[in-house]
Amino acid sequence: MDSRLAARLQYYRDLGIYDFYRREVAAVPIEAPPGAAECSPARSAGYEAMEGAVPQGTAEIQIAPKPETSVTDRSAALRLIQEDLGECTRCVLSRLGRKTIVFGEGNPNADLMFVGEGPGADEDEQGRPFVGRAGQLLNKMIEAMGLMREQVYIANVVKCRPPGNRTPEREEIETCSPFLLRQIAVIQPKAIVALGAVAARCLLGLNEPMARLRGRWFDFRGTRLAVTYHPAFLLRDPRQKKETWKDLQMAMEYLGLKARRSPESV
Ligand code: URA
Repeated sequence: MDSRLAARLQYYRDLGIYDFYRREVAAVPIEAPPGAAECSPARSAGYEAMEGAVPQGTAEIQIAPKPETSVTDRSAALRLIQEDLGECTRCVLSRLGRKTIVFGEGNPNADLMFVGEGPGADEDEQGRPFVGRAGQLLNKMIEAMGLMREQVYIANVVKCRPPGNRTPEREEIETCSPFLLRQIAVIQPKAIVALGAVAARCLLGLNEPMARLRGRWFDFRGTRLAVTYHPAFLLRDPRQKKETWKDLQMAMEYLGLKARRSPESV
């Protein structure tokens, strides 16, 4: 391997990126509704940036095993990812008022994983995902599904609060999301629910409106992925809770869950 390529690969490794793919993976709805076939290809954020690093004719290169592959225990593996993340300064969010890195939390063996957008003020204070008003609503949604918060795993596309709760920028997502992808790979949930368009677009690489993303399953690297409204959006427009409940019911059916309480109470 020439030294420039080795240096480039080491650079990506320092960013938490280990896997390199030349070919894009198609994110196709599992139960494709009419007209869904033209979905754009999945391009997980973070991978796109690497295309230039991969020499022609090389299908996949691994420079060093990810630290988490050295352990079988999922909690230990997640700790290794968190250590690798460290006191991250890889993107500008580390310099724009972030107090705490919000790694994610929950059951490392969860069947169900929720992925949000990024920490808000409460999360930044406490270092935990979804603990503010949106988090309280998410808790109710989880309970309505017949689960407890401790049974699922919750993480975000970016781990640091964007200033003023703005939408994370593309570069921030590309830099941070490899760590989310590694968390998902360790947890191996049966299903992922992406909360809102930012999470959905990051994981699926699809620049589609919510109306085209909701109400169906996608395949995310062998795991079922559903998209629903972000709880913060539901706080602004509670009429959409009914639609959200339909999305959650789809996940419940797949996971064999029974509703614990009526969705009206959410
Ligand atoms: N919104 C998110 O997307 N994530 C959080 O953790 C909190 C609010």
